[in-house]
Amino acid sequence: MIRRMADKLGHHLPHRADDLNSPTSSSDFLSQSSYGHHKRVYGSEMEAVEEEPRFMPRPQPLAPVRPRGVYRLDDFLIQRTLGTGSFGRVHLVRSKHNMRFYAIKVLNKERVVKMKQVEHTNNEQRMLECVQHAFIINLWGYFQDSANLYMVMDFVPGGELFTLLRRSNRFPDPVAKFYAAEVGLALNYLHGLGIIYRDLKPENVLLNADGHIKVADFGFAKAVDTTTWTLCGTPDYLAPEVIGQQRYNKSVDWYALGILIYEMLFGLPPYHMTETNHLILYDRIQAGPSKIAFPPAAFSEAAKDLIMKLMEGDPSKRYGNMRHGANDVFAHPWFREVDWEKLEKREITAPYLPRIAGEGDASAFDRYPEEDATSGYGVIGPDLSGHLFPDFNYTAEQ
Ligand code: AMP
Repeated sequence: MIRRMADKLGHHLPHRADDLNSPTSSSDFLSQSSYGHHKRVYGSEMEAVEEEPRFMPRPQPLAPVRPRGVYRLDDFLIQRTLGTGSFGRVHLVRSKHNMRFYAIKVLNKERVVKMKQVEHTNNEQRMLECVQHAFIINLWGYFQDSANLYMVMDFVPGGELFTLLRRSNRFPDPVAKFYAAEVGLALNYLHGLGIIYRDLKPENVLLNADGHIKVADFGFAKAVDTTTWTLCGTPDYLAPEVIGQQRYNKSVDWYALGILIYEMLFGLPPYHMTETNHLILYDRIQAGPSKIAFPPAAFSEAAKDLIMKLMEGDPSKRYGNMRHGANDVFAHPWFREVDWEKLEKREITAPYLPRIAGEGDASAFDRYPEEDATSGYGVIGPDLSGHLFPDFNYTAEQ
């Protein structure tokens, strides 16, 4: 069954390498680990057809939280690449209007369609437009031309938590706790809006200039009235119910938080294999966490206990997904010293302050070859798929 599923999902798919104003308004580390970026699996929402009883009511209809800006590529000067994805790149850009820096995520429409990610891409834009939280990225606007979709976001200059973690090998307990607590608040906020995030991993947690987190990449985020069952996410971080093709809800994000805490404290995710074999990995995930090693040098008893409760195989018994929701997680002894109110207001000093030379300094990000990176942008040509992205303004250069 698992083999069939993995085949169907096609692990041969291309892998990821991986409170500002609106753009038009006037450490010393140990050694580098060789464990690369987590890779994603892409399911298609078309699979979700069954109706199931509600157990995640959406509290209010989602609505945009910011006035939508009208932008075009010509409003920005492209500076360099910050990251790459399966469908395109994220660039550091500078607004010609206010000279501030932003990040623009560019997705190639043809690739999005080919990989059946039209709904996920529209979800990304629709979810980001409806969220505003200290620990989540802001989306300012979005548009398209003949070939690409563009999303204008805050530039988050401190780089990926992933990079910091790999350079540090692993985080001391208080550091892991700080990041885990901020991620927990972001997840709880999203769940309160009825949004499941579905792709928690250190690559998607960015660090702002002040060292606080910004969760980015809403490519798999989804608003759910009931439950859903698309198999998407990142293998090491997939909850057993996702792999088992059962219906699931926000429980999967709490499971992923357990994996993230483990990875931050240990340096690698709990089911890590040097040679990734997804079938073995999925078997291990489904067998549950009882055989995972928790070396005492890395894990306090409280940390281990919380990780086990978040990695609970039965979603109805998983911390974060029971009657008291996120409160069970926030009240767990591992988080005892966290002042949640202060944390939410960003009044707790972050454990690591990114070294940033000035506005627009992107030295925290890896370098990518830039040749021809933007050659297809703004070009007028045939467009067979623009209608699939109805919310993206059509702003091809005229
Ligand atoms: P994504 O496809 O959204 O995961 O983006 C790919 C990579 O681009 C991320 O892992 C980050 O390294 C980088 N990135 C994405 N969004 C931003 C942003 N708003 N600010 C800075 N870097 C970003």
